[in-house]
Amino acid sequence: MLAMFDDMAGSTVYEHAFTCPYCWETITMLLDMSAAAQCYIEDCEVCCNPIELEFSVADDALIGFDARSS
Ligand SMILES: [Zn+2]
Repeated sequence: MLAMFDDMAGSTVYEHAFTCPYCWETITMLLDMSAAAQCYIEDCEVCCNPIELEFSVADDALIGFDARSS
């Protein structure tokens, strides 16, 4: 399930569902689409392990996404 909407700051965020590399649960995170490429650490909402997220954006569309254990 994917949804595009504007957050309160006015920037476009993207709700992306993926599998946690630690617990294999499907989790969703909001990705900030305002930058072309991003890489940061976000804790899993299920197992609380730090997931390294890396993704690319072009024309407000997600063109690459990777989630791995850091
Ligand atoms: Zn997890």
